[in-house]
Amino acid sequence: MTQGLPSVLIVDDEEVVRDSCSHALAKVGYAVDVAEDGTVGLEKVEHLKPDLVLLDLKMPGMSGMDVLTKISEIDPNIVTVVITGYATVSSAVEAMKRGAYDFLPKPFTPDELRIIVKRGVEKRRLVLETQALQEERDLMKRNFITMVSHELRTPFAAILQYFEVILGGAAGEVPPEQRQILERMKIRIQGLLTLTRDWLNLAQIEKGKLVEKFQDLDLAPIISETVDLMREEAEAKKVTFDINLPDPLTTIRGDMRTLNQVFINLIANAIKYNVEGGKITITGREDDSNVLIDVSDTGIGISEKDLPFIFDEFYRVRTNGREGTGLGLSIARKIVEAHSGSISASSELNKGSTFVVSLPKARE
Ligand code: ADP
Repeated sequence: MTQGLPSVLIVDDEEVVRDSCSHALAKVGYAVDVAEDGTVGLEKVEHLKPDLVLLDLKMPGMSGMDVLTKISEIDPNIVTVVITGYATVSSAVEAMKRGAYDFLPKPFTPDELRIIVKRGVEKRRLVLETQALQEERDLMKRNFITMVSHELRTPFAAILQYFEVILGGAAGEVPPEQRQILERMKIRIQGLLTLTRDWLNLAQIEKGKLVEKFQDLDLAPIISETVDLMREEAEAKKVTFDINLPDPLTTIRGDMRTLNQVFINLIANAIKYNVEGGKITITGREDDSNVLIDVSDTGIGISEKDLPFIFDEFYRVRTNGREGTGLGLSIARKIVEAHSGSISASSELNKGSTFVVSLPKARE
């Protein structure tokens, strides 16, 4: 619809219905296409992405109901109007339940057809317009946050340095009561600095420049180095590591710096959300086309209700005072997806969580 005439696909086994509807609609400025059965209809829906489908419910071969379900799988925003016989009002109701926008009982006049199609196409236009506005609003919001993060990063870093100077005693003796308050202020500023840094990281990945930096990589040393980096943090909580990485792992194509970030984020969480004296198990394995890394912990776990949302930006749960921005997992997911891979999580409350990173093997 965005380019030119609104388009309508008529799926009906009766040639006379196809012809008369085509005629009635083409006359008032619709781009019309026809299909004689459900199979051809679905091919055309897939290919043409029409604004509206006029669908006969009673056709030989694939049933109209099945076609209806498949259309909404292809694109839930395509408006469907079903054509029904007098005796099949109940199937019209069933069709509406399956997402049809309206129904047209047979026999109908060209005017009745045009009124219903006009309304359907108008609805489609409004849905698309709303979607475009929402996308634009989201983009503006993201750009705004990125701009603000940019602006705030430098002053936050400067404030943090002043805190270091004052707390270090370089600006004179700090009485203990003031030191306590200043320490708390410093932690807050540190949190804000991390938040701006994380957001800017996320915005950077979205720019999609990562592929240019891809090289053949073995994940085993990358993960081992990350573990070494985080050992001190783990030891402070008496958390131990159990690493099972075949050496070498099959090569993948990727960017070392950002993949490092993925494992830093996952391991940092596995420590942060672990229990005192807990364990982190990291296992490398592979299937036909992917290298898979499991990062498991024995921590507090994530409830079934929260699990679907943990990769969303700013989503935080059950943090019990643990510091964080709610961006670590969304950054990890963005990076992995920029590598054409996937990341998933499974968890059981009070038992622990497992995150699985899957990255495609480099082609020979
Ligand atoms: P945060 O900065 O809050 O850690 P993340 O994006 O890294 O943000 O994680 C989002 C939320 O998912 C966390 O707030 C936490 O509730 C949950 N979560 C992430 N990793 C784990 C884990 N290993 N065990 C339990 N909960 C976790």
